[in-house]
Amino acid sequence: MTATLVAEDVRRSYGETVALDGVSLSVDAGEVFALVGPNGAGKTTLVRALTGTTDAEGSVELFGAGPREVDRERVGLLPQAFDPPARLTARELLDYYAGLYDEAREVEAVLSDVGLADDADTWYENLSGGQQRRTCVGSALVNDPDLLFLDEPTTGIDPAGRRALWDLLESLADGGTTIVLTTHDMAEAHRLADRVGLLADGRLVAADDPDALVAEYGGESRLVVETDADPAALDLDYPAERAGDSLVVSDVPPEAIGDVVDALAAAGASYDALTWSEPDLEDVYLELADADGHYAGGRRERAAVADGGGDGTGASEADADGAAAEGER
Ligand code: ADP
Repeated sequence: MTATLVAEDVRRSYGETVALDGVSLSVDAGEVFALVGPNGAGKTTLVRALTGTTDAEGSVELFGAGPREVDRERVGLLPQAFDPPARLTARELLDYYAGLYDEAREVEAVLSDVGLADDADTWYENLSGGQQRRTCVGSALVNDPDLLFLDEPTTGIDPAGRRALWDLLESLADGGTTIVLTTHDMAEAHRLADRVGLLADGRLVAADDPDALVAEYGGESRLVVETDADPAALDLDYPAERAGDSLVVSDVPPEAIGDVVDALAAAGASYDALTWSEPDLEDVYLELADADGHYAGGRRERAAVADGGGDGTGASEADADGAAAEGER
């Protein structure tokens, strides 16, 4: 596979604030890479560094060229804060952006792709928030880019519009477009991305296939049973503990749920409801980032990186650096 994007040891500080603390990343041609992480983790700064819209230390290459030297016809960017002229219609805006390129797609086709064909003649300021965001996504697509950066493309878009946009991004990816996106929506990251990178404190603390991340950091499946049964009184083969009005049994395979039900019956315990769930990307996120948005890779006393670089004592500098470098290999 050829890497479309290669970034090495990218650093950026604003005064005393370290926004990017040495990020290395490589994205292959046709790959969809989703960046997730708490507010202030450095996602927007990273997108800006990768696209040459802010200065940064380290090296970035897109198609083998620096972000400011790369052929602009090949790259599309939806910045997080994008504020086009309010009194142009969606069609006029896309026409304008299409005019910036030597070769651009048909504006009508782009309008239809982003679901704006029926509202193309409405001034931008009169479009709903979701329609405005879709107009902005359209502006990043007019040049039919081979590499597309989208900073929170679906923020503010309603569920139906979000799904339509996912379909569009999936069809672009199927057609070979390389996509780097940021999102706070873990379902979006899981569905769209070949690899998800978690950024915290300006470092990439994990980057992998979403299923692999869930397997490594997501923890066990949980069977939550609404009951007042005492776990000590139950004959269970699985770890169980009380949480509020529920009994939480960990790591029960779905086919063994009946055994738990039998154990409750044998102990004469009644229950109202029973929910089994597998860990997901949100559990990964909560495992690796704490409530204040900082790296928390040692919380379960587990090494944060596959090479065993974590010593299980917490998020030391060395752990996070190891993860930043290691996550990319
Ligand atoms: P994210 O996109 O993950 O929310 P950002 O990249 O926006 O994170 O911000 C990372 C850090 O850099 C934050 O502490 C933020 O306050 C700071 N920062 C970002 N842009 C600027 C700027 N233009 N001037 C000063 N500080 C900034």
